[in-house]
Amino acid sequence: MEPPRKIQVGEFTVAFLTDGIWRNDGGCMFGVVPRELWQREHPADGQNRIRLNLTCPLIMRGGNAIVVDTGIGNRLSAVERKIFDHGEGWLIDGLRMLGMEPGDVTHVLLSHLHFDHCGGIVRRNAAGGLEPAFPRARIFVQRGEIEVARTSSNERLRAAYRHIKECLEPVTGLIEAIDADTALVPGVTAAVTGGHTEHHQVALVSSGGESFVHLADIVPTRSHMRGPWNQAYDLDAIRTMEQKAHYLRLAVGNRWWVSFAHDERVYAARVVEDRGKLALGGSIPVPEGLDGV
Ligand SMILES: [Zn+2]
Repeated sequence: MEPPRKIQVGEFTVAFLTDGIWRNDGGCMFGVVPRELWQREHPADGQNRIRLNLTCPLIMRGGNAIVVDTGIGNRLSAVERKIFDHGEGWLIDGLRMLGMEPGDVTHVLLSHLHFDHCGGIVRRNAAGGLEPAFPRARIFVQRGEIEVARTSSNERLRAAYRHIKECLEPVTGLIEAIDADTALVPGVTAAVTGGHTEHHQVALVSSGGESFVHLADIVPTRSHMRGPWNQAYDLDAIRTMEQKAHYLRLAVGNRWWVSFAHDERVYAARVVEDRGKLALGGSIPVPEGLDGV
């Protein structure tokens, strides 16, 4: 494994950590888009799964180290690991290659509480128990997201959050439930988008006239930059489309860095407009060697 790639955003350094490659159903990832269109860029395997990454940006300045989303982590059963073709994960290894320990992470921003974004907030220890993966970090999540995850009786939401007790109970004392847009430190904001889930949020970094945004499940891969290409999981796809149009317009106009939660080829890129279509400008590639159980 190579050391995490970094970009500079004003006074902040952003390093791209990954929890490794996983595979998920292509139809779920592209919703109403016909397979005939998405499979050109995202070939499916025999189980209709496409290759995806688990990108977790680490935003650093001074003593602050903010991890955005935590991937799947190591809490899955052997059967679940096989379903998603996900290995042990590389998040902590990446952190150590930067000369840091999990205890050095000061903040975690969770975009939402689906298992592939919050699973890595806990670690299964040698005795089989779950403990906080980042023991000294304050964990920022929208209060509404926690409430829906914990209390909804809707069948679809129950299934989407069936892991929630395992992930939240070990870190109860570390959770900072927030309401609406919130600055974690000056220059780093958790901004609510809704769309994918009602209280989904993204991470925005602004410093010295430069900006970076991690759009999480609003634009999970480069292909989702197209307006109608949205995940079947989105609870409000129209809202997702409005939010992605808003942020991508800002990114093109102001040369922001944009990172993709699940793109298997690029961690992040500058987005450019080319003959009316959005395309990747300079990009930070995902390295080889992150596959498999
Ligand atoms: Zn999600």
